[in-house]
Amino acid sequence: MASMQTVSSVSLAGGQGKTTVVLFVARFLAEQGRTVLVVDADPQSSLTTFLGHQVESESPTLLEVLKKQVGTEDGIYKTRYNNLFLIPSDDALDTVQDYLAGSGTGAFTLKRRLAAVAHLFDYCLIDAPPQRSQICLTVIGASDALVIPVETSVKGLQSLIRTLELISELRDDQEAFDGEILGVVPFRDRWVGLRRTNESESNIESMQQITQEWFSQDLVLPSIRESEKFKQAINRGQTLHEMGQPELAYPIEVLVKKIEQLE
Ligand code: ATP
Ligand code: MG
Repeated sequence: MASMQTVSSVSLAGGQGKTTVVLFVARFLAEQGRTVLVVDADPQSSLTTFLGHQVESESPTLLEVLKKQVGTEDGIYKTRYNNLFLIPSDDALDTVQDYLAGSGTGAFTLKRRLAAVAHLFDYCLIDAPPQRSQICLTVIGASDALVIPVETSVKGLQSLIRTLELISELRDDQEAFDGEILGVVPFRDRWVGLRRTNESESNIESMQQITQEWFSQDLVLPSIRESEKFKQAINRGQTLHEMGQPELAYPIEVLVKKIEQLE
């Protein structure tokens, strides 16, 4: 029996599209009948909010799961969507940093916790925080594959380089990651009419060059266009198809295909 594949969305700067990618990929997979667990590993807890989940004061979150104060299953909640389950977070998750740093094998903590529920799900998608923190390390350590969303801006290119540096450290020094990099998803790609703006064009070319240098191949995937429709879909809890915007979902579909090819 095939076991759960864990894919994380990682990029070391704010506003790179990490949460957006996790949300739409998870909903797409769930709509196709796959059983999906999403893990909100960011203390900002945007993903928890986007999924309409309210953390009650006494109910366990990712914090208690990581600290092993509860079993992993006790931290999993149904969402309003079929086949889609959530380990939520709130700002208290930040207090787990010391726990992870003190354990010595913090990069493997989340992987171990998720192993306990791997038989229940087809896919696990993890939303990482923007900082190079202990939480980020344990997210990468738990992953079979990574996707790197990168804003089509200078800030985005810097985020890409920092992210690749961290991944290679975890791969080479700590052997905490031996998975696949599914690719780089340019985020907020700007077009005017039928033309990509010069800024987007040159930033995406830079992403291609950077991945060529690091991996000897172009790992840039189809881009997510700059569009208010994504924000509207998030606010309304709809998919892009439900919004009548199937063409905007193309980069999500390509990513889903890559995820389905894992293993
Ligand atoms: P953080 O590091 O702060 O968690 P992030 O990398 O998770 O950020 P997102 O939250 O996914 O980034 O996206 C940043 C912002 O861009 C959000 O406010 C989101 O609503 C908005 N956004 C999402 N999709 C698009 C789009 N296609 N075009 C423009 N803005 C978008
Ligand atoms: Mg986010």
